[in-house]
Order: sequence, then structure tokens, then C-alpha cells
Amino acid sequence: MRALIALLTLALLAGCGQEFDAPDHGYGPGYDFAFADGTRFRNDPPGTAFTEAQAEHHVAEAYREVEACAQIYAPGPLVVAVPNGTLDGHGGMTYPHDALIVVTDNSAQDAWDLIDGHSLSVLRHEMIHHLLGASGFPDDANAGHRSPLFLACSGEPGVLG
Ligand SMILES: [Zn+2]
Repeated sequence: MRALIALLTLALLAGCGQEFDAPDHGYGPGYDFAFADGTRFRNDPPGTAFTEAQAEHHVAEAYREVEACAQIYAPGPLVVAVPNGTLDGHGGMTYPHDALIVVTDNSAQDAWDLIDGHSLSVLRHEMIHHLLGASGFPDDANAGHRSPLFLACSGEPGVLG
């Protein structure tokens, strides 16, 4: 059924000349746990597989805190944790228009890390990309980290430009 939908989607997109890229970006739509605000989590599988309670703490609770910090509220993303080293050296990737965040095993566990009393979190950084996308913030400014929310709410500014 999923393959059929993908084919139909491909046909539709091909018809209007867009490059085909499914909203799951090849990661698939599945998840292990879902939480009240729509945040979902999947072990894909990293070295450390979260239980539901761990996913709630590390992902869903952190997401609610980032929403409050940013003062942007939007349905939660699908967060997929993949093995360390599989994202070309990156700690995480966000597809803001598809509510998809992919993070390494290490990044999936970094939301509550404190460095000198401040958070420094790739996962929270990716959540800011997601929330900015949901808020209508321009894509180029989002990709270029041109928002003070990255530093304020994740401690991880990315490359400012
Ligand atoms: Zn970034």
C-alpha cells in the first residue's frame, strides 16, 4: 500500500515538474512511540534504543520546553534516531516542511546535557529548525541559522550567516 501511495505521489509530482522527494526522505513514516502533542520517536536502530519513558523524557519533554522557549507552538515532529556516524558527520538533520528530524544516537540523548550550566543540544537545535519552519520563517534564513532562537533555546547556534 505504501509503495502504491509513493508511486501515485511520484506521478503527481512528476506531472508538475518538481523533483521527486517523498516527505519521509527515505526514512519511512513509522514510529515506536507517539506522545500527546504529536511528537513521535523511532529507534532506527541506534546503539541505545529508547524505551517509551526515555523517549518521553529526552524527546517529547524537551520539545515542549523548546516550544515554550521559542514561544512557537506546533505539532511535534517525527524524530528518528540513527546510528552515530551515519549522517555524514552531522549530529542531526531537519526537514522543516515535513516535520521530520533525524538525529544520531548521541544527539538523541543530548537535550538535557548542560555545559557550564547552559544547554548545548543538537536535538534542541533541530527542533528550532522545525518550529521556525512551522512558523513560516523564511527557508533560507532558517537554513542559514539567522534566528537568535538557536542560541537562546538550544545553546547550539549552528553557522551564523
Ligand atoms: Zn542547523
